[in-house]
Amino acid sequence: MSDTYIPLSVPNLKGKELDYVTEAVKTEWVSTGGPYIKDFENEIADYVHVPAAAACQSGTAGLHLAMLALGISAGEEVIVPTLTFIAAVNPVRYAGAEPVFMDCDDSLTMDPDKLAAFCREECDYKDGVLTNKTSGRRIRAVVVVHIFGNMADMERIMEVAGQYHLKVVEDATEALGTCYLAGEYAGRYAGTIGDVGVYSFNGNKIITTGGGGMIVSRDRDLVERCRFLSTQAKKDVVYFVHEEIGYNYRMTNLQAALGLAQMEQLEGFIRTKTENYEEYQRLGLNLLPFRDGIRSNHWFYSFLSKDRDGLIKHLDACRIQSRPVWQLIHTLKPYQNAQAYKIEKALWYYGRIVNLPCSSNLTKEDVTRVAEKVLQFEKTCG
Ligand SMILES: *Cc1c(COP(=O)(O)O)cnc(C)c1O
Repeated sequence: MSDTYIPLSVPNLKGKELDYVTEAVKTEWVSTGGPYIKDFENEIADYVHVPAAAACQSGTAGLHLAMLALGISAGEEVIVPTLTFIAAVNPVRYAGAEPVFMDCDDSLTMDPDKLAAFCREECDYKDGVLTNKTSGRRIRAVVVVHIFGNMADMERIMEVAGQYHLKVVEDATEALGTCYLAGEYAGRYAGTIGDVGVYSFNGNKIITTGGGGMIVSRDRDLVERCRFLSTQAKKDVVYFVHEEIGYNYRMTNLQAALGLAQMEQLEGFIRTKTENYEEYQRLGLNLLPFRDGIRSNHWFYSFLSKDRDGLIKHLDACRIQSRPVWQLIHTLKPYQNAQAYKIEKALWYYGRIVNLPCSSNLTKEDVTRVAEKVLQFEKTCG
């Protein structure tokens, strides 16, 4: 008998999902109207302690709306990480702006020292406007990604952003539930520290709505603006008056039904993921740590392998799914001509990281089997 297949990160739908979705179908509220959408927005807003949230079709759509709501436009630039999923960067181009790629530090999130050095040495700052000396374009914002559920160094990044008048977009798509426990931002959740934050409920994220996203901000007007743009910028709901270009990005009641059921389980998912992370460590796997002074949601586990591709192949043969970290965005075809600033650590980590199974429905036996297979392989090489 062959071993069961262990996937990397899959949905866990053992709560009230079916009840709520059934209710949505029975009441025939399946589209972008219906009570669950507002309830889900309120649930997330309460959970991360912000006054308002806007539900949308995906994290990507949320990031696009965030760019538009901040007024980022053609001919401007936005600083982004190179070590991330491409959906953190594409919305910059959707808005007609250009990315400038930044390196990570050992937390895998944006290096605040390099960010500061870039602004200081590669740009001119005058009258509240930061201009890139290489391109001559204005730099308007920075997109910070809380990679794998870790928290970026928001204390330092907010300081640099404040110094140079940059807007801060938090791509918290992987980090719902991650929060500061200590320091200047104690009690604050990933996504609620910058000007605007976005969560994703794609199938592989810590909670899922099949596909979906949520925009949060401490600025209620900004959230309103995103919601307005997500519903075709409809000024008058009777006469259908539109004074600008909007989008069809609103979440459906069916997705929100799933989301509400998932929110009831979020803290349990985080507990399980944290326990499984600790169990891997206990069994002898050296996983990358999360930042001190935070409560991480432990979304993804990063193992540094001596032979990345060999390990992935070995695990695959053992019916265990694993993955290298994303190909660095500044090396991808659409972005090869964009500016990249002293990318070093991202390359180093790119060559070594293997993400190991981390689903919230992973059993202790699964964890043991994965750890054994990884250790077995690592012992045989180098
Ligand atoms: C998942 C993810 C997104 C996009 O979210 P979708 O809901 O899949 O559109 C954006 N950025 C990062 C870093 C992600 O992991």
